[in-house]
Amino acid sequence: MNTQPRPATWLEIDITALLENVAALRRVVGENVALFPVVKANAYGHGAVPVAHALLSAGCAGLCVARLDEGIALRQAGIRAPIWILGWIPPEHISAAVEYRLTPTINSLAQAAALHAATPRGEQTPIHIKVDTGLSRYGLLPDEVLPFVRDMRMFNHLSIEGLWTHMARADEPDPTPTQRQLARFAHVLEAVHAEGVHPRWLHTAASAAILNPALENAAHFNAVRPGISIYGLRPSREVAWPIHLRPVLTWKARVARVRELPAGTAISYGGTFVTPHAMRVALVPVGYGDGYPRALSNRGEVLIQGRRCRIVGRVCMDNIVVDINHVEHVEEGDEVVLIGRQGDAAITADDLAHWLGTINYEVVTQILPRVPRFYI
Ligand SMILES: *Cc1c(COP(=O)(O)O)cnc(C)c1O
Repeated sequence: MNTQPRPATWLEIDITALLENVAALRRVVGENVALFPVVKANAYGHGAVPVAHALLSAGCAGLCVARLDEGIALRQAGIRAPIWILGWIPPEHISAAVEYRLTPTINSLAQAAALHAATPRGEQTPIHIKVDTGLSRYGLLPDEVLPFVRDMRMFNHLSIEGLWTHMARADEPDPTPTQRQLARFAHVLEAVHAEGVHPRWLHTAASAAILNPALENAAHFNAVRPGISIYGLRPSREVAWPIHLRPVLTWKARVARVRELPAGTAISYGGTFVTPHAMRVALVPVGYGDGYPRALSNRGEVLIQGRRCRIVGRVCMDNIVVDINHVEHVEEGDEVVLIGRQGDAAITADDLAHWLGTINYEVVTQILPRVPRFYI
């Protein structure tokens, strides 16, 4: 990396850290639980295809995405492992699930009929059935599952491979709401088993439900769907998460220009910052056109020479200006860290989330494709 010419701004994706996080999750769930990590939304901004290849090389059994297109893109990149589509599939596109061997979750008889019709004679398409145990998005209500499972007998080209649910509040210290959801799931599972149907995969846990110590591994079943934790970020700040996670993503840029401005100089659009005294500032070529939020205007900080430097004035589409009055010898081309470590200092995705009033998930997921990703 250091020998390559570096662009104005870029991401470094640390595959070693990714694999360490996967290994830490593996130690938590043990050898008998399959890892189906989640690479939706371009692997939370980290780059879906390289991340997917790394995860599968590390022994993960398969992958999860939200959308059909995301699954198709992984197939077109040569990925052959099982891929579960967690979200909605437009009915008129359901046959693509067969064509690309993507595993859909089926919510309705109409969807089941369309998928059955799209499956060639003599073959079976595996489906998963989701139970809505309390999130109120997708899935069948607990009472609807058994009749639905019985209805699936009409469709001999479909096989029920998975039964699953998703938790609403597993990132909170109090396990009670999640335990209630798990009890609903267990009840449904018992009825499905009593019907003689034994789905191969039972999965209820994203990162928080995998790791939350208060749940004592009760949500693991035989497969888990970790997302944020594989990227080295915590599902929330409220719980003492039991494993060390190493952030995978570092966001860097370079100093474009250093300027000495006299007192009383307005900086950037709208003149929202006026220098209170003579000041040295650096222009950094990164902005909201890269996914660096405009809401960090006059609020965010970056690292230069291991020192925190605050953003002065508005974040523009392609540039920010930062205060370097307290940092010596800054030159054009110097490294700037927006998220990550530099020297002894660090700015985390959680720091940005805190300044922005959001969560780390949104911070990394909104980094745009314009920013080149380097895999190290
Ligand atoms: C996004 C998602 C996950 C992963 O969640 P994390 O909190 O990032 O671990 C798992 N399951 C479903 C259904 C999801 O939508």
